[in-house]
Amino acid sequence: MQLLASYLAGKWSPGSGAKQSLVNPTTEEVLAEVHTGGHDLAAAFQHARTAGARELAGMTFAQRGAVLAALAKAIHGAREELIALAVANGGNTRGDAKFDIDGGAVTLSHYAQLGEKLGSAPLLGDGEPIQVGRTARMGGQHVWARRRGVAVHINAFNFPAWGLCEKLACALLAGMPVISKPATATALVAHRLAQLFEPLLPAGALQVLIGPAGALLDTLVPGDVVAFTGGSDTAKMLRNKLPEPVRLNIEADSLNAAVLGPDVDLGSEAGALFLADVARDMTQKTGQKCTAIRRVLVPEARFAEVCDALKERVSAIAVGDPSREDVRMGPVATAQQHKDVKAGIARLAAATDSVYGGTGEITPVGVAAGKGYFIGPVLRSTRDPMNCAPLNEHEVFGPVSTIGLYNGDAAFAADFIARGEGCLVSSAYSDDREWVATFVGAAAPWAGRLYLGSSKMASQSPGPGTVLPSLLHGGPGRAGGGEELGGERGLQFYMQRCALEGDASVLKTLIGG
Ligand code: NAP
Repeated sequence: MQLLASYLAGKWSPGSGAKQSLVNPTTEEVLAEVHTGGHDLAAAFQHARTAGARELAGMTFAQRGAVLAALAKAIHGAREELIALAVANGGNTRGDAKFDIDGGAVTLSHYAQLGEKLGSAPLLGDGEPIQVGRTARMGGQHVWARRRGVAVHINAFNFPAWGLCEKLACALLAGMPVISKPATATALVAHRLAQLFEPLLPAGALQVLIGPAGALLDTLVPGDVVAFTGGSDTAKMLRNKLPEPVRLNIEADSLNAAVLGPDVDLGSEAGALFLADVARDMTQKTGQKCTAIRRVLVPEARFAEVCDALKERVSAIAVGDPSREDVRMGPVATAQQHKDVKAGIARLAAATDSVYGGTGEITPVGVAAGKGYFIGPVLRSTRDPMNCAPLNEHEVFGPVSTIGLYNGDAAFAADFIARGEGCLVSSAYSDDREWVATFVGAAAPWAGRLYLGSSKMASQSPGPGTVLPSLLHGGPGRAGGGEELGGERGLQFYMQRCALEGDASVLKTLIGG
């Protein structure tokens, strides 16, 4: 049995004490074990504060970017091995695994290029120079400076590769050493990444704790930061636990919605895009995607047609052993996840009607009877989406979406987005610019990202569920209030903004001008 070690204070150590198993969610076979404690985390923080901080401080943005490029290359070199681990430990189909792993490599490459562009500037400029004196000689300039501290990264089970890479890319480029903790249940991919990255990184730049957090958050001091992705209950605990001066970024639950505009015919390009996006974003990664579409809003006149079309699409998805080429959707990742999704479906079922999939019972393809954490795609519907509490107040983290009807009013659609109390992303599909403007104006305060589907962009759309490194990822309210990525913006969490005043020519040189 493989025993997973953590990489802390410059060495690999297995920890000690009780063990937790990592399981194949298709077969329920134990794949590996990890000790639940026994690590000297104080030594890990000390290593980050000394070796890690020193090494990164001595590097320019361009040099740190070059390290990120090497990490992306390492992922490409081990891609097939990483995919196999994701299939076994995450219940991922090959496509799901690529989405996670390639997404990690793309994000590292994006920040590698940004590092090259930022070059050797000592500080990052924030906005244009400002004249604050009588003449242009006396200037003002906002800048971002590297924070002195340790970045602790805590990730969710669903994206073991991308989660590690997207947070790491921003922190390292900004110049902060990282201690990263993947979710235990699916840690095989992150563990392998840590092994691949270790020889490519400066000492102390990245340490990886495999297994439960233990005392990870007990020795934080002002200047340290914590970036968390996971459930809202854990997020709430972190908010209460962390000392005030420690910066905290939260990516949590999200009730993302997709709205069909009243002008869109399902046979049009925008209509086809809407159907494809909903079907994919409710079933990709078995619905275990923070950006998955949970709520669908369609004009009353198209309600029956949309229900039929989505039913046709999701019923064609083969569910079963994700290592099989003919299977399009695997199991959920853990027994707990299975229980939680079933409970969520039962809550929804009490308030909605079934369109397809009942409450998720399924006989998976190629799986021994009674084995695996399988749930089939579930489509529900409601004629009163605004007042359907289970739909608007609970995230079901599985292949489950509910279709509600409305009168086509853009203001109502925006209120429906707001009813989720803050989401990572929501989408609207319309070619009517006036409708779109009204919708965006009212919905934007409730979403980290709005995806505007239309006929003109349909052929080149990545879909709302794909998080791009160049655009912000995060959302207000229920989604945690966090902001990650967004190109250069992603570095700001790991830096401190400071307003400089002085000789304008000196200020210019400080930002590489
Ligand atoms: P979770 O149970 O909250 O766990 C998330 C992470 O927190 C794991 O690494 C977990 O470690 C760790 N953790 C648990 N208790 C902790 C503690 N006391 N101190 C420090 N760390 C602790 O969430 P999950 O089940 O992995 O993920 C599912 C949730 O994540 C969903 O609700 C989904 O909405 C959300 N999510 C959000 C995003 C986003 O970008 N907004 C992305 C993906 C997922 P262990 O695994 O060792 O318990």
